[in-house]
Amino acid sequence: MQDRLAEEKERLLSYLVKEGILKTPEIIRAFYKVEREKFVLEQYKEYSYADTPLPILYSQTISQPTTIAIMTEALEPKKGNKILEVGAGSGYQAAILAEIVGDSGKIYTIERISELVDFARRNLNNAGYRNVEVYCGDGSIGLREKAPFDRIIVTACAPKIPNSLIEQLVDGGIMVIPVGPITHIQRLFKIKKEGKRIKTKDLGFFAFVPLIGREGFK
Ligand code: SAM
Repeated sequence: MQDRLAEEKERLLSYLVKEGILKTPEIIRAFYKVEREKFVLEQYKEYSYADTPLPILYSQTISQPTTIAIMTEALEPKKGNKILEVGAGSGYQAAILAEIVGDSGKIYTIERISELVDFARRNLNNAGYRNVEVYCGDGSIGLREKAPFDRIIVTACAPKIPNSLIEQLVDGGIMVIPVGPITHIQRLFKIKKEGKRIKTKDLGFFAFVPLIGREGFK
């Protein structure tokens, strides 16, 4: 199965590069380095490089590779950055970011479902990532004790942009977040904080699981 996975990984990643979805060399390198098969459930391993979301535990998903690529490029992560991810899920997105920020950076990822916290921790540990800390809690209000962050990525859909997350972003920081109703059309936004101003760019329509919490859905 390992040879087939390697072939399918090459096919998927060369497609993402050819289409211009993955374009930054450090991000491309991270996608090649991280083994998605280490973050999916045993029964879905053979689909690790299908361009589709896959079920994890508790009706949640590891996002589609194309979506992760678009979000990671929009986030503009840099070596040495301190990044907050809201919605750890499998830990895969955190691993991609950990590769990019390197040993001089740090990833904090927060997840509300404790079984998924264990799943993400186990996957990240097995894959050898030491610059990621996984927290259990409501990430819709951020992670105040570790703020501010250079970048914030939210991997579940919020009803509106949480004020706490804007507050916890450095001046000049970037946040990528899906916003919209639970059942209807959701849009992915790239947000740049410039002093008291917020610049927003619409990246198009997507479908995410809901962000549940104090500044999310009730
Ligand atoms: N980034 C993940 C990965 O790479 O596998 C995929 C995350 S999944 C699409 C979204 C996650 O957000 C789910 O695991 C869900 O439990 C979590 N979530 C929803 N609301 C949350 C909240 N308020 N705080 C933290 N996590 C939350």
